[in-house]
Amino acid sequence: MPIAKKIATKSVAILAMLSCLLCLNVNAQELPKESRVPGGIAIITLHGLESDMAPSAWYKGNRVMVLPAEGSGYAKGGKWIAVAGIPLSAKVSQKQHLRANGTSYYFSITDKEYRAQYLTIKNKRHVEPDPDDVKRWRIEKAKMVAAFKSWSEPQVTPTHFVLPAQGPFSSPFGLKRFFNKQPRNPHSGLDIAAPSGDPIIAPAAGTVVDTGNYFFNGNTVILDHGRGLTTMYCHMSKIDVKIGDKVATGDKLGEIGKTGRVTGPHLHWSVSLNNTRVDPMLFLSNK
Ligand code: ZN
Repeated sequence: MPIAKKIATKSVAILAMLSCLLCLNVNAQELPKESRVPGGIAIITLHGLESDMAPSAWYKGNRVMVLPAEGSGYAKGGKWIAVAGIPLSAKVSQKQHLRANGTSYYFSITDKEYRAQYLTIKNKRHVEPDPDDVKRWRIEKAKMVAAFKSWSEPQVTPTHFVLPAQGPFSSPFGLKRFFNKQPRNPHSGLDIAAPSGDPIIAPAAGTVVDTGNYFFNGNTVILDHGRGLTTMYCHMSKIDVKIGDKVATGDKLGEIGKTGRVTGPHLHWSVSLNNTRVDPMLFLSNK
């Protein structure tokens, strides 16, 4: 092939690649991975509600994230999708019911068998808290739930995360937990093991909606990413942000530690959609 023709063919190929990348940018927002199981995510197309205004969707009493359907953008009369977190406590025998602008959408879920994990906790009060601890925990829990229920509408809602800390995943989401052989709530986050003092970063843009030192969770930060998506960081040795701070992807939130109920230094990372803790792995890769 003559050199000029070779260059021309190459340029066409590069242009085609570039325009493909551009069209991906314009039309497709990488969604979390769908997994219709307890602790997973259902992505429901809101048929019949085409409009230039996002419908308002609800599931189990909580407001649900609604995004433009792929290719729809915010165009006039566009299609919409609901991205709903399914609670670990959801019953597979029951049809799930999501409502949007007065229309009902039903979906079913399948079972997922989460493994059991047995941990030995040295601080006995972290397994059998005394009445004052329980009182303290109830107040803290209400404060955290209020943060999980945050609702904001930023221009762009992130639906994909980078890892907030570097280290092995020491405990996956959903484990059935036994502390000193006693059954407790299932594991509602992903644990990343790392040395105390290592940085914890924001996995996407958001606003700090809660910080505190909590009985079980230790030093904690909660971020609101918009439309019911929140993330929580626990057991920190140091908190570098305050309520109201706006953070960008990669901004430091604080440092790894071992405050609260732990067996060693790690980050407990929770991801919550519609006030429902879901598997963080679903936001890490769609592949
Ligand atoms: Zn954890």
